[in-house]
Amino acid sequence: MPIATLERLPAASRPTWVEIHLDRLAHNFRAIRARVGEGVKICAVVKAEAYGHGAVAIAHSLESVGADWFGVAAVEEAIALREAGIARPILCFGVARGQEALVLEHRLTPVVFDAAQIERLDACARAHRTVLEVHLEVDTGMGRTGVPLRELETVLRAFERFRHVRLDGLMTHFAAADDPAQAEFTRAQIAHFHEAVRVVEARGFHPTYRHLANSAGVRAYPEALGNMVRPGGLLYGLWSGPRPSAPSPCAEIVIETPMGEYAVQPVLSLHTRIVFLKDVEAGTPLGYGSTFVTARRSRIATLPIGYHDGYRRALSDRGRVLVRGRFAPVVGRVSMDWTLVDVTDIPDARVGDEVILIGQADGQRITAEELAELCGTISYEITCGIGARVPRVLVSAGESALE
Ligand SMILES: *Cc1c(COP(=O)(O)O)cnc(C)c1O
Repeated sequence: MPIATLERLPAASRPTWVEIHLDRLAHNFRAIRARVGEGVKICAVVKAEAYGHGAVAIAHSLESVGADWFGVAAVEEAIALREAGIARPILCFGVARGQEALVLEHRLTPVVFDAAQIERLDACARAHRTVLEVHLEVDTGMGRTGVPLRELETVLRAFERFRHVRLDGLMTHFAAADDPAQAEFTRAQIAHFHEAVRVVEARGFHPTYRHLANSAGVRAYPEALGNMVRPGGLLYGLWSGPRPSAPSPCAEIVIETPMGEYAVQPVLSLHTRIVFLKDVEAGTPLGYGSTFVTARRSRIATLPIGYHDGYRRALSDRGRVLVRGRFAPVVGRVSMDWTLVDVTDIPDARVGDEVILIGQADGQRITAEELAELCGTISYEITCGIGARVPRVLVSAGESALE
């Protein structure tokens, strides 16, 4: 995904853009650091283009504030970070068959969970005359990747046999740590992980790293920090589950730390501009399928953003945007490239006005969680879904991209 992390949006571009607020990213990182303390490594999860924020820019920024490791889903993502000059260790949650040489060449740390992977990596490391450090994932309740506990011994035998691969980390992944109603399940995952640690140590392995916690784990399970944590969403000011202090999607995501409470801040905002305004009579149908018919004489603004940009079609007739600090409802279907909003009640709206689709202005805000709720999903899917044709513009404290 070619994300343009421009310092400034070029004057002649389509006026639809994302702003990445690096000061908020740093704030969120520091909140997590305060939560976990200096003794726990932070593996910043930047998979999927850092949840749509732009992985390279996010990783550079996090490297400068002290991220110890980076976590990605795929080898390709890790290589892109290396090519951009990221030097810190990169944990790769999934290594496909055939990618072993790339792992060695780019100094990646693979997560493994079966003996065949260990054997393939061993062969490759032996050919490179080196010993490759890997992390072993155990499945304690996620049911996705990870070796089931009852097969742990078999995998450990592979580590004994294949000496060019060294077990340097043991990890597991939480399935429901964001849901207080499932706390017992999460505590069982933690107990299973402790059991796995015992088994591994009993066989004479002493991995440097032990890690379990995703964002929800960092926030809610201080007993499960191990000596490394893997937050993703929390870094970006996003929350994966029902809002911690629901019911309002605007409730803040708060992290408790020994230094007090920190509310994490959304790093991403989504903007466009009004490109066209028209006055229509009552009874005018709008958009594909004519799903919306004006009930009054109305002023309709056309916005150059659609579902290809990640402004989801599910927001048709349901979403709202901010124009001049006031909410304007989405009317009619969101199409691939365009969205209509009703600005009848914002009579000073003009062509060229900035419109906020995710973000805040004049004390009002629209969160990715609000959009997610309307779309029946989570905020991660909203930011991940922001299209590649939307430039990501980096902004620092107090700055706006378009001054
Ligand atoms: C995505 C992922 C994370 C981060 O999850 P968040 O909910 O974004 O904190 C951590 N670990 C693994 C293995 C993951 O796949």
